[in-house]
Amino acid sequence: MKKFLPIFCLFILFAIDINAQKPYVILVSFDGFRWDYLSRNISPNLEKIREDGVSALSLRPTFPSKTFPNHISIITGMYPSHHGIILNNFRDPWGKITYKMSDTNTTREGRWYLGEAFWETAERQGIISASYFWPGSEILLSYRRPTYNEKYVHTRPYETRVDGVINWLKLPQNKRPHFITAYFHETDTQGHDFGPNSPQLNDAIKRLDGIAGYLFKKLDEIKMRDSVDVIILSDHGMTDVSNQRIINTEKIIDDPSCKIYDDGPVQLIDAPKNKINSVYASLKKNENHYKVYLRDEVPQYFHFSDSPFISPVVVIADPGWTLITNKAGEWLDKQKGNHGYDNNQLDMHGIFLATGPDFKKGYRTGTLWNVDIYPLLCKIFGIYPRTNIDGKLERIEFILN
Ligand code: AMP
Ligand code: ZN
Ligand code: ZN
Repeated sequence: MKKFLPIFCLFILFAIDINAQKPYVILVSFDGFRWDYLSRNISPNLEKIREDGVSALSLRPTFPSKTFPNHISIITGMYPSHHGIILNNFRDPWGKITYKMSDTNTTREGRWYLGEAFWETAERQGIISASYFWPGSEILLSYRRPTYNEKYVHTRPYETRVDGVINWLKLPQNKRPHFITAYFHETDTQGHDFGPNSPQLNDAIKRLDGIAGYLFKKLDEIKMRDSVDVIILSDHGMTDVSNQRIINTEKIIDDPSCKIYDDGPVQLIDAPKNKINSVYASLKKNENHYKVYLRDEVPQYFHFSDSPFISPVVVIADPGWTLITNKAGEWLDKQKGNHGYDNNQLDMHGIFLATGPDFKKGYRTGTLWNVDIYPLLCKIFGIYPRTNIDGKLERIEFILN
């Protein structure tokens, strides 16, 4: 036995060394951090990344520019109609069940998720992953989850989340994750409640900028600042809304046999087969501050036709306008900002900042697409991406060293 000991030790050292050589990436999401919030001169830590790393003019979300569809687009490299999470809340009309972002019984069900999350691609190829919150990370099937994950708690203090990330990085080499996600909701919440131009929103920017500073300070403390790639991005932007800019589609359709799903920038309308054309026609005749499409005629650039869960009629409000039904509650008066609109509108664009050994220094680029982040991550780790993705490495890889 004794004579094998040196060989065994060598093997262990080799294994540790291989793990140590893999890159480290922390993917941070600041929900609803609009692209231009960075120019308000109140976010010194984020602005410093412009000198130290890569900054994009904006990050183009997928349509609809909502939280769950976009976090899943970022992590799978697919459009919502392809990865399956077409809205924050939507129905499977055949299964007669509803996916609801606030209901973990549904968000943990693997059946909804048709794409492969980066942590799944990574784990299969030997990269240990972790998630301190990310939509889709709590899936019940263990092989579709990161090795380490935290169940979503909206009120968890932000510093505690960063400390959790740092604690993972302090694990022994053979247990330590190399890909970690983190999520912070501040700019989204304040943007909805007070609008993108409010003092409260500026406080949210400062708060998140402080969190970025705290993360870098903690990375310094564990002497990993220079060895970790940090990507800070957002899922979408925000625009002003008003209860003076509303459209009641239920009134226009005036037919109780039709079902209208969700108030807000996008509505999906189910109608009995023989009524689809007339519902479409009445919405088309009244088309003002919104656009109505039959599912297969939604413009190609939205990539919002290919899912069976998209209803036969799709209504998209103009930016700043809100689609409602007769039931619209008092949230309408309270809401000052929203998102979900046309993803080509700049107000819907988010941020993309990246710093670390794999990124260029002081490199500024134009708009990037969030579906391209999945292949970028695969490139950084040198692993094989899924081939059925919508993202394209050639649209983004020039930001790497
Ligand atoms: P939205 O309606 O698109 O603005 O959604 C934003 C909200 O999504 C946030 O305020 C969070 O409460 C919620 N959220 C974000 N991530 C998660 C998650 N992993 N699990 C459950 N809810 C989440
Ligand atoms: Zn969001
Ligand atoms: Zn939001």
